[in-house]
Amino acid sequence: ISNDRMKTFEELESAVRSYSRGWPTVFTKAKGYKIWDVDGKEYIDFFAGAGALNYGHNDAKMQEKIIEYIREDGILHSLDMGTTPRKEFLETFREVILTPRNLDYKVMFPGPTGTNSVESALKIARKVTGRDTVISFTNAFHGMTIGSLSVTGNSFKRHGAGVPLHHTVAMPFDDYVENQDSIAYLERFLEDSGSGVALPAAIILESVQGEGGINAARLDWLKKIESICRRWDILLIVDDVQAGCGRTGTFFSFEPAGINPDIVCLSKSIGGSGLPMAITLIKPEFDQWGPGEHNGTFRGNNLAFITAKEALSFWETDDFSNGIKQKANLLREKIDSIIAKFPELKAEARGRGLMQGIAVQVDGLAGEICAEAFDRGLIVETSGPSDEVVKFLPPLVIDEEGISKGMTILEDSIAQVLS
Ligand code: PMP
Repeated sequence: ISNDRMKTFEELESAVRSYSRGWPTVFTKAKGYKIWDVDGKEYIDFFAGAGALNYGHNDAKMQEKIIEYIREDGILHSLDMGTTPRKEFLETFREVILTPRNLDYKVMFPGPTGTNSVESALKIARKVTGRDTVISFTNAFHGMTIGSLSVTGNSFKRHGAGVPLHHTVAMPFDDYVENQDSIAYLERFLEDSGSGVALPAAIILESVQGEGGINAARLDWLKKIESICRRWDILLIVDDVQAGCGRTGTFFSFEPAGINPDIVCLSKSIGGSGLPMAITLIKPEFDQWGPGEHNGTFRGNNLAFITAKEALSFWETDDFSNGIKQKANLLREKIDSIIAKFPELKAEARGRGLMQGIAVQVDGLAGEICAEAFDRGLIVETSGPSDEVVKFLPPLVIDEEGISKGMTILEDSIAQVLS
């Protein structure tokens, strides 16, 4: 395509083979929970890089630290070589996150993305147990590569692989079938070895399913899943790529359930600033890879280590976590009041912490609401199997005023769409 033909933004976008979002503008700068486009229009960001920007855009301290590092010719890329930022991140992560929670994990760098973390988790679970299959849940989302997609419960996305995906068994997520006990179903399945059921290597789950429609598992359901894992010696993998790093109110989404997963996947906000980074936490006894058995080039992004370490300072006291819970309550109040005001939406409130949503039971309406909200200066996305959920993931550093402003725009957008 010649430069002449690539004049407009639409043409440019259509020439890029990527999954492009329907936001018809070019963004230029961002700070905290706000983002601006080329025309200077301001948007409130309730999308936050799909959960990668829990600490907001361009945190001043993080910015300062990476600029200083670059100025001093710090090493940017180092594979898995030891560097100061890597060492400092590892020390601080242990000190601020693992030790106070009584968690004993080895930290592994699986590659830069959430999918890399999930792949490494599935792979080590299979190696450790010598078993083949993995149990995952309806509407789960774990990533786009063959392994992570095989445990993803979305048939549209699975279709991208062209042919059937293997080594996975889908089970109903908590509350997937109303008034049905999904735990009893799972137990029956595992007990039924006489019918050819093979014990799985692992059960993988999100405590709150993000892409699947903001489905929050009940805490006692998570506990029961953990006891099933213990009973059958199945590894429990919690994919905290989206629900982790404080999104649901505590650093790990599973903390209030009091469970102790064997493997935890973290990415998105672990890098603090939106720089790509992922880690996989593995109980020491399951760290059974020899050197070189699982490696990759981009596992040493030192800028991400620097901002990741800085992000951990938010967790040195309980203030940040308490603030998230307070803001989450405000968000829920706003959601409840919108639902009460517009009964024609047939809507339901979903989620936990600052990972919430409104499930709209009218076809196509959630998408229309998001488009209208964008025009009015609020960035929100849909999720769920039919894109029926308007999903709210504001940066955790947002203030109450930001939440109120965003939800006012949302309310006005709903009124407009329904008028
Ligand atoms: N797991 C979960 C729970 C996710 O939400 C996502 C991304 N939406 C992934 C894994 C995949 O992460 P990435 O896009 O960084 O590969």
